[in-house]
Amino acid sequence: MIKGHETAPILRVAVPVPLYGGFDYLDIDETGRTPVGSRVLVRFGRRRLVGIVIEHADDSDVPAARLRAIEKVLDDTPVLDDELLGLLRWAARYYHHPLGEALATALPVALRRAKADQTPHRHRGWQQVDPAPADEDDLLARAPRQRELLAAIRAVSHPTAHSHLLARFGNAQAPLKALQERGLIEPVELPGALERGGAGSAPTLGAGSAPTLGADQQQAVDHLCGLDAAFHPVLLEGVTGSGKTEVYFRHMARMLAAGRQVLFLAPEIGLTPQLIERLRARFDAAIGVLHSQRSEGERADVWRAARAGDADIVIGTRSAVFTPLPRLGLIIVDEEHDGSYKQQDGFRYHARDVALRRAQQCGVPIVLGSATPALESLHNANQKRFAHLKLPKRATGAALPPIRVIDIRSRPLLGGLSDPMLGHIERHLTAGNQVMIFINRRGYAPALSCHDCGWIAPCTRCDAPLTLHGGGARLQCHHCGAAEAAPPRCPSCGAKELIALGAGTERVAGALRSRFPDVRIARFDRDSVARKGRLESQLADVASGATQLLVGTQMLAKGHDFARLTCVGVLDVDGGLFSADFRAAEHMAQLVTQVAGRAGRADLAGEVWLQTRHPEHPLLHRLLAGGYNAFASAALSERRDAALPPFGHLALLRAEAHDLQSPQEFLTQAAATINVDADIACWGPVPAPMQRRAGRYRAHLLLHATRRARLHPALDHWQRVLGELPGARRVRWSIDVDPQDL
Ligand code: ADP
Ligand code: ZN
Ligand code: ZN
Repeated sequence: MIKGHETAPILRVAVPVPLYGGFDYLDIDETGRTPVGSRVLVRFGRRRLVGIVIEHADDSDVPAARLRAIEKVLDDTPVLDDELLGLLRWAARYYHHPLGEALATALPVALRRAKADQTPHRHRGWQQVDPAPADEDDLLARAPRQRELLAAIRAVSHPTAHSHLLARFGNAQAPLKALQERGLIEPVELPGALERGGAGSAPTLGAGSAPTLGADQQQAVDHLCGLDAAFHPVLLEGVTGSGKTEVYFRHMARMLAAGRQVLFLAPEIGLTPQLIERLRARFDAAIGVLHSQRSEGERADVWRAARAGDADIVIGTRSAVFTPLPRLGLIIVDEEHDGSYKQQDGFRYHARDVALRRAQQCGVPIVLGSATPALESLHNANQKRFAHLKLPKRATGAALPPIRVIDIRSRPLLGGLSDPMLGHIERHLTAGNQVMIFINRRGYAPALSCHDCGWIAPCTRCDAPLTLHGGGARLQCHHCGAAEAAPPRCPSCGAKELIALGAGTERVAGALRSRFPDVRIARFDRDSVARKGRLESQLADVASGATQLLVGTQMLAKGHDFARLTCVGVLDVDGGLFSADFRAAEHMAQLVTQVAGRAGRADLAGEVWLQTRHPEHPLLHRLLAGGYNAFASAALSERRDAALPPFGHLALLRAEAHDLQSPQEFLTQAAATINVDADIACWGPVPAPMQRRAGRYRAHLLLHATRRARLHPALDHWQRVLGELPGARRVRWSIDVDPQDL
């Protein structure tokens, strides 16, 4: 019983509010102290919030009479163990983000609510009926989708989750029902949200058996399997199709056999149902998938199963790095260069870097894999901080395609396509092969303009033109979401002739349709595959060969393996050559190399064509002449000369407000609090590249340090003083450590 405030134990609680530090409450547990890592319900101001106990305190700066008691302990056992809480405390400190918000970001959405931790839901699944009816072939003769689904269910020896089949095949309800009525499959209840892998009876997928390793693969596997159970960071640099996944799998098999858990991180567009299928076909293990497509309940269940030690493999995107894994033995970060590992709002962590810290903290190996490693990772390998393993050749023996440029200066473009490009497309289509056209811009055209006066349709809330959609009928802002109909005449001069400037995926696909009317074309961008299952069915049509021509955004850049794809065209590389963002060239080089890796995967030779107005640009030149490696070493020496990352260290202070002045004023005050010297400098404040966005004016101040040891004390200082600056109340501000987009 609580006798009085003086004697009740004090809990320090992190609460999801944008304030640094923990808040003190009195415990209400009568049997002992509420354990660290537990979720508790507390009053915070007038609100009731879910917080997490981070410390048992002996005393408080708050006078005893003003301390409130927590209202409720939400869980019987703490949701965060010491290891994960330690990692999150480190991450909140490193990224200078309020701990309570960082902790809330790490928890599955379902656990951020004030409800008791639940036992797992039941999940639906399917298994084949044994023995299969004798007339199966007749029954399914004219039902290709049912055949595909049945093969997928038979490919592993355990039941297959309904949600996995939906993710892989799109709308599969009707064919599943038909298969059930025909007595070929039956529904089962799965005990949790985990997938169960294991080689099954259908050999169709071919992923179940392990291929004989090539010499380079064998060397990499030997290295990895020779590592002891300690922190060993490894960069696995392998060209597209070199069999990196196979190397991961061998290393994983060893860890799983030793009873350890594996955390496998994949980027947003790299975590495909095909990858999960490969894992399931290979490992007789419990696999938890954490992906934004999964429901809140499913994600929370995977999280709990991982915490209980029931999941052997957890595969997921960025936030999966915060999954509790008591038996963690290995971390894999696939496509480690990918930008989606960095969270771009709120708690701006980089999942690769957090994963590295976690591996270090747990004393386990970590493998970073990529065909185009980030310059930071290459630098770490050059400095011998990471072991550097290389797979320079494709596993299948296929050659890497040559990359060539088409100079489009003073050439007319038809829907963004030059004549030579159209010629190459035609040649490959006529040979019966597939062609992929890549343009990193969705919509019909990036701007609508008046032919007479030069007016360009603007967004009223952003410093950006509106993008044309719907064949030119609609205008939409890609930054704030505003949408309106395209005007019939120029609002500025009244002229009737409005023209679409440039091209996006929609216009390119339209131009190709009129040029190649008999060819089946599919468009891949956020608009065209918005409907659930659409992406999967479009990809299935490409795999079957029905679709010959693909037009898409970076959605197409990785993870897909199409045997008949022999030609890749890239329409817009120039943006990466002339950007204010110092990372733009690196991203362009990665993208070109990745999309090129889609061509000529099997026995057919491939080729890649880039349209450019700057064929002599040195960066482009280096990339084409020497490949990504030559590009990267040149880019690294430029970064060294400019003291930019990884040779210098950056943090960005962002501020925004409804008026133009306040952000600049606040940032000027912030700059004045830093004692600059030879090792530390403030650059700015400057307006953000797009100054006004969704009605708010934005400005940046960049903190640059020659040594990381100088950056963090300055940020600690900011963390203490920024909130007290006179201008702070008029702006929204945030700190971004190791910013990715400037
Ligand atoms: P990456 O992850 O490097 O892009 P993958 O692991 O996906 O490459 O392998 C590319 C293709 O080569 C896949 O179809 C895979 O099955 C195949 N493959 C991988 N290793 C071998 C090998 N040792 N022998 C033959 N084929 C292989
Ligand atoms: Zn006009
Ligand atoms: Zn806008």
